[in-house]
Amino acid sequence: MFSIEPGDIVSYLEMCSLFNASLQRGMNFHLRPAESLVLMSLRPGAPYADRIEEGGRVIIYEGHDVPRRDGGSDPKSIDQQEFSGTGKLTQNGLFVDAVRRYKLGRDPAENVRVFEKIKDGIWSYNGLFRLVDVWRETSERRQVFKFKFVVSEERAGVAETTISIDHNRVIPAAVKQEVWKRDKGVCVKCGAKENLHFDHIIPYSQGGSSKDAKNIQILCLRHNLQKHNNIE
Ligand SMILES: [Zn+2]
Repeated sequence: MFSIEPGDIVSYLEMCSLFNASLQRGMNFHLRPAESLVLMSLRPGAPYADRIEEGGRVIIYEGHDVPRRDGGSDPKSIDQQEFSGTGKLTQNGLFVDAVRRYKLGRDPAENVRVFEKIKDGIWSYNGLFRLVDVWRETSERRQVFKFKFVVSEERAGVAETTISIDHNRVIPAAVKQEVWKRDKGVCVKCGAKENLHFDHIIPYSQGGSSKDAKNIQILCLRHNLQKHNNIE
């Protein structure tokens, strides 16, 4: 069973075990049946220019570069490709193709789970999104892909625990970094280092802010459940 909540914090190994895969790249089309996975980063110096818009409801995700080759040109100087040298669809191409099929009404929008890097080896789950659009943009004198993901309100078929009440909106990267540092990467109640979650102290549904680090804390699964049981 796949059980993870937006705001959950996982190690790289936990992320791999959730997907039963050794994750080696940022874009993973159809990693599970009818479901893709992407890794994003908004940290300074991140390799791609991803961004979050509309209070976390929309993610604009940059496509990925051609692989680096010995003696080859810098991948950052080459247009991002839909096809590999051997004519196979790249990950960009697979995602582009999914948008085409969606726009033609042949397939539903691809489900995409999004994880965001907090620091080396530590990732935060941003939620389930739908891939609805793609376009090309000029960036540093070359062409890159931009994919548009919209947060999925669809709950059917997604195994979720009952504590999901206030995590539909993404906490901005800078706030997550600040909270992670302040709380030293452990549960503020018990110091646990595993099954951690970015918790809204005042729930989002009750007007609590995602943008203010003072309203966000790190809780372990046990203390998160305990808190929600007390509210409900
Ligand atoms: Zn705890």
